[in-house]
Amino acid sequence: MNKKQGKVGQARSEIVAQIPMACADEDSAIEFMETRRWGDTPKCACCDSENVYQQMNADKSKREAHCRWRCRDCKKQYSVRKGTVLEDSRIPLRHWCFAFWAACSSKKGVSAKQIQRQTGLSYKSALFLMHRIRFAMAPTEPDPKLDGTVEVDETYVGGKPRNKGWKFGDPNRRAQWSTKTRVVGMVQRDGEVRAQVAPTITAKNLREIVMDNVDTTARLITDEYKGYKKIGPEFKSHETINHSKKEYARGDVTTNTIEGFFGLLKRKLYGTHHAVSKAHLNRYVHEAAFIYNHRHMDDGARTEAAIKRAVGKRLTYAEPIKKPA
Ligand SMILES: [Zn+2]
Repeated sequence: MNKKQGKVGQARSEIVAQIPMACADEDSAIEFMETRRWGDTPKCACCDSENVYQQMNADKSKREAHCRWRCRDCKKQYSVRKGTVLEDSRIPLRHWCFAFWAACSSKKGVSAKQIQRQTGLSYKSALFLMHRIRFAMAPTEPDPKLDGTVEVDETYVGGKPRNKGWKFGDPNRRAQWSTKTRVVGMVQRDGEVRAQVAPTITAKNLREIVMDNVDTTARLITDEYKGYKKIGPEFKSHETINHSKKEYARGDVTTNTIEGFFGLLKRKLYGTHHAVSKAHLNRYVHEAAFIYNHRHMDDGARTEAAIKRAVGKRLTYAEPIKKPA
């Protein structure tokens, strides 16, 4: 590893400065990815040992093809791709670097079409790459629960339900939006957002989603949907805003923060990707949440955060939905 490039605590803008090289040259890309993953101290991707060495060519002039490392403890050979979303891919690392950077430096996201044009990869490869990057951005382990003042709301994405009217016999007024996909979002004021696709919005699964993501010591702010009224008493306090009476803010009781996130998500979905299948929607939601939660960083630090999140994740199937047995 090039020590000059790998100083821990380097100015963040240095990461941005390295990106053009990493996107153009494979050796630079390998060094870039290794530094993002391990910093100054390369580790074994199998056992975490620091007792590792780089395998060189016989003449010691250049690193071996595919940039292999070997661990003195577990004796295994590995590369920087090992144990990450990149593991089963043969796409050159410089294209991965470009795609990570493109995905992390644009608020509205980047489409596979754009990656295809800028890297020369096939559309299929570009799509593969972007789906894996979105998978890397998804929450890994249970992230800390939201606390303080937390706004919860849902939104509906997908085609416009033209002339659908009301569904008779369905007491749920939201049923008229049944062709759309529901996304539940929760945001801590001045904090992070959690968002996910919900197959249906019922009091039961709404409760599950909110309890998984929000601490019961939080002050909850929602609209007047009856599902929220049931879970409200489980929290420290619960205040509602009455959208049907055209009420959008009463003092600091408002759901404008989470609606701002939904606005960002929709601009990404409709502006950049145009049409997103229901099967993949959750990935785009995770991507939008990742960008939102890392909004105070510069592009380089955000790119590094995304690459770090790629570790420990494997996506071994092409489509996120498995066929029922
Ligand atoms: Zn090892």
